[in-house]
Amino acid sequence: MTKPQFVIIGGGIHGCAAAWMLADAGEDVLLLEADGIASGASGGFGRRGVRGNRRDLRELPLMRSAYRLWPTLSERLGADTGYERTGGLNLIEQETTGTKGGLVAARAHAEVQNRNGVPTEVLARDRVLELEPDLGEAIRGALYCPFDGTADHGATTAAFAAAARARGAVIREHSPVTGVEVSGGRAAAVTTADGRRHEIGRALLVLNNAGAPDLLRDHFGVTLPVWRILPQALRVQPPAKPPMRHLIGHDHRSLSLKPLPDGGVMVSGGWRGRWNAELGRGEAVDANVQGNLRTAAEVYADLADARVELADAARPESCSADEIPVIDRVPGTANALVGTGWTGHGFAIAPAVAEALAFWVRTGARPESLSPFTAARF
Ligand SMILES: Cc1cc2nc3c(=O)[nH]c(=O)nc-3n(C[C@H](O)[C@H](O)[C@H](O)COP(=O)(O)OP(=O)(O)OC[C@H]3O[C@@H](n4cnc5c(N)ncnc54)[C@H](O)[C@@H]3O)c2cc1C
Repeated sequence: MTKPQFVIIGGGIHGCAAAWMLADAGEDVLLLEADGIASGASGGFGRRGVRGNRRDLRELPLMRSAYRLWPTLSERLGADTGYERTGGLNLIEQETTGTKGGLVAARAHAEVQNRNGVPTEVLARDRVLELEPDLGEAIRGALYCPFDGTADHGATTAAFAAAARARGAVIREHSPVTGVEVSGGRAAAVTTADGRRHEIGRALLVLNNAGAPDLLRDHFGVTLPVWRILPQALRVQPPAKPPMRHLIGHDHRSLSLKPLPDGGVMVSGGWRGRWNAELGRGEAVDANVQGNLRTAAEVYADLADARVELADAARPESCSADEIPVIDRVPGTANALVGTGWTGHGFAIAPAVAEALAFWVRTGARPESLSPFTAARF
């Protein structure tokens, strides 16, 4: 049996996008997924934000590439990603918020974003109301990014996986990686729970998100300042139509809102679930569900009467100490790369990360856009 040149661990958006980028370039790829495609943070109901607005500045070069890639994907993958450039608003209520936000900071943020390829306008309240007529009294302005939008994360991940398969990639689901053989500073093979051993021709890509820190610790002796969280997402049904039309974020409240195509609204933005050790999965916490809803209703009064249809906190995400990912060679290893620590915003940049990773493993040259994400920065 020929050994695959590239072995990828993890069948979320990052693993599947990388598999497609490599297979599309004619490379042999094996992707191993512990469960099913999009069973982690890249799956579940609703949509994910594709947002440049108020993103960490170190991620803006990747976001610029992502803005270029997203509109092309449905056609290139041959399946609908649900990508829509709805425009995104970061709502502002206060004169200042800490040291980085509020009305006084809006112009500076807009200027930096514009300089870095994220078109941004500062809108006063009357202009915000033209875009979002149902907003509450407290909103005094917004940062508006017309290129921001949303996509269907499950559909996009499945589309990457199907297109990768069509290009010859082998994707094995229900195949958790349980061992990595490292010898002479190279990842030589991985083993899966069924006892199979898969040799690695050229490179290993560790893209299993919340599972990556343990895998790196156990098999490479590497510790990253990255941990697992359980983000909470609510699917609510407002009494009439969704009161918002754009991707909505907020300058100081923990709040993210997305109108869904079927008339529902996805409410999230930083609230968490908890781990249920008995069930072996994350679950929603009622106080956090109510807190998230109250916050949403303070911004859109219509959401006070929304019915909660689903509260999901079962999709683990990885967070890093400085809130941007680690995308780097696994320290001490020549041919293994890791991408983890997405800190709740890894979906939007995934096509750009995959493009950069594929370039890196094929040419041996790290793209400049990945230079902020070294493990050594800590
Ligand atoms: C509720 C919620 C809302 C979010 N909103 C946004 C948003 O609006 N915008 C945005 O950009 N991002 C958002 N994110 C973050 C984004 O979804 C994630 O950063 C992204 O999906 C991570 O993709 P991934 O492929 O790295 O990880 P995952 O999708 O978690 O995939 C990792 C895969 O690895 C598998 N795996 C684990 N261990 C092993 C092993 N040992 N062997 C084989 N496979 C293994 C898992 O089963 C999993 O399928 C949100 C996340 C959540 C949960």
